[in-house]
Amino acid sequence: MTKKINTKLIKLIKYYSLINHNLIYNNHAINRYKKDGIYSRGNLGENLKKLKTAISNIKNCDLKKNSTNLVFADGNPKAKIMIVGEGPGDNEDKEGFPFVGRAGQLLDNMLKAISLDRKNVYITNVVNFRPPENRKPTEAEISKYLPYLKKHIEIISPKILILLGSTALSSIIGDDVVISKARGKWINKKVGNINTNIIVSFHPAFLIRQPDQKKMAWMDLKMIKKKNK
Ligand code: URA
Repeated sequence: MTKKINTKLIKLIKYYSLINHNLIYNNHAINRYKKDGIYSRGNLGENLKKLKTAISNIKNCDLKKNSTNLVFADGNPKAKIMIVGEGPGDNEDKEGFPFVGRAGQLLDNMLKAISLDRKNVYITNVVNFRPPENRKPTEAEISKYLPYLKKHIEIISPKILILLGSTALSSIIGDDVVISKARGKWINKKVGNINTNIIVSFHPAFLIRQPDQKKMAWMDLKMIKKKNK
């Protein structure tokens, strides 16, 4: 009994030391999966390439007009876990990859706490171009990008879909439930033409602002680890 509690305590301490400290700002992506590797995998690669081209050809979009780069995805398209954030920030816009700034560093540390990294997850966002001043995407912008996000999810066809934050939650599940109620449970849902196990959790940027909520995120991470076995 005491041994069990000690092991749990050690795990918790390890997790906290991973996510509380060393959030050193770094505008270089870490653990990036091979830059063009995601486009060289048969149909999967072809489908992703077509989707990326379709997004880059979006017309009449102010997000696109005001941004530097299309931020499509990072990680392994063959992963069982897909993560959806909100939208690119300044660092992501400069580099063209999702979650490469401070929130990304926390995300990497959270994944590390459950023995994952960008080689075994696939990461994208609700919108693929940076909203100016890091504001939340508007409903019109979300609606414009939603068909592409759904297609993206269909192509990856993940066993586990992690929705980080309220924008990803409302885009895929709807906005009649708040994140504090939606998080921490499995939702089996059809997205596009695939069935997947969805879990909603707090966005890392929110966790940086509200570190007391990290204990909730840790519970979600443990559920993900168990499901991924
Ligand atoms: N926040 C997001 O939601 N996505 C990113 O890519 C970076 C920060």
